[in-house]
Amino acid sequence: MHRFFLQPHKISAKRVTFPPDTTHQILHVLRLAEGDLVEVLINDGYALLTKLHTDPDRNRVTGEVLESNLIQSEPRVLLHLYFGLSNREKVEWILQKGTEVGVSVFSPFVSSRTIVRDKKLPEKKRQRWERIICEAAEQSNRGKLPILNDPVELAVGFSESQADATQSLIAWVLADPQTAKLSDVVQPQKEGALAVFVGPEGGFSEDEIEQAKSLGIKLISLGSRVLRMETAAIVFPALVLFVLDEM
Ligand code: SAH
Repeated sequence: MHRFFLQPHKISAKRVTFPPDTTHQILHVLRLAEGDLVEVLINDGYALLTKLHTDPDRNRVTGEVLESNLIQSEPRVLLHLYFGLSNREKVEWILQKGTEVGVSVFSPFVSSRTIVRDKKLPEKKRQRWERIICEAAEQSNRGKLPILNDPVELAVGFSESQADATQSLIAWVLADPQTAKLSDVVQPQKEGALAVFVGPEGGFSEDEIEQAKSLGIKLISLGSRVLRMETAAIVFPALVLFVLDEM
C-alpha cells in the first residue's frame, strides 16, 4: 500500500486534503483511482487507513480516514547517527539506507579528516535531503520521520551525545575486534537514545579518539575488514539495532 507523510493540519475530522505535490503523485505518477486505499502518516506513530476520493478534472484528491493503527515497526530505541560529512552521493545514500535500517536522527559532522569542511547546509540541499528521508521512510514503513540536523563540529557532536544519549559508541578501525565487540559493549535498553559515530574516509585522528575515550564514548570494532565510511554508516546502526533486538 502506498504511504504518505503529511503535515497534521492536512487532516481534520477524518478528512484528508492532499497537497499539490502529493496530489500530482497520486493522480499522475501512481495513477491511483477513486476508492483506492492508502496510508496517511502525520509523524505521530499512527497510520491512518484512508480511502481516496479523486477528482482528476479539478486536479483534487481528498481522503476519508477509515481507521487509525499504531505502527509497530518503529524502533523503541532512538538511534542517532553521527557521520563524517562527505560528497552528495554518499550523504544521500547514508540518509536513504539509514532511514530504512532504523536511524532516527542524522547529524553530519566536520572533523580533522573530513573532505567537506563547510558546515553550511543550503536550504535547497536540506529540502532535497529531507525529501530523500521522507521517501525512504514511506517506503520502509517508518512511523516517524527521521530528523536531519545541521552539520556540527565533531567535538560538538561528542558533547551533545553526552547530554542526550544513554550510551555513545564510536567505530574505530584500530579497535580490537576481540575486545571492542559491539555485542559485549552495547547496554541492553528498551528505550532511550543511543549515539553512534562513524568517521569520514580518512578515519578519526588519534586526538579525536583520545577525546572520545576521555568522555566515556566506547570504542567499537566493526570486524577485521575495513569498511568504507558509507558502508560503516549503515552496518553500525544495523548491528546496534540487531543487538538491541530492534531489527
Ligand atoms: N583509512 C581510514 C579508514 C576509514 S573507514 C582509517 O584508517 O581510519 C571510515 C570509517 O568507518 C572509520 O572512521 C570507522 O568509523 C568506520 N569503520 C570502517 N571499518 C571499520 C571497522 N572494521 N571497525 C570499526 N570501524 C570501522
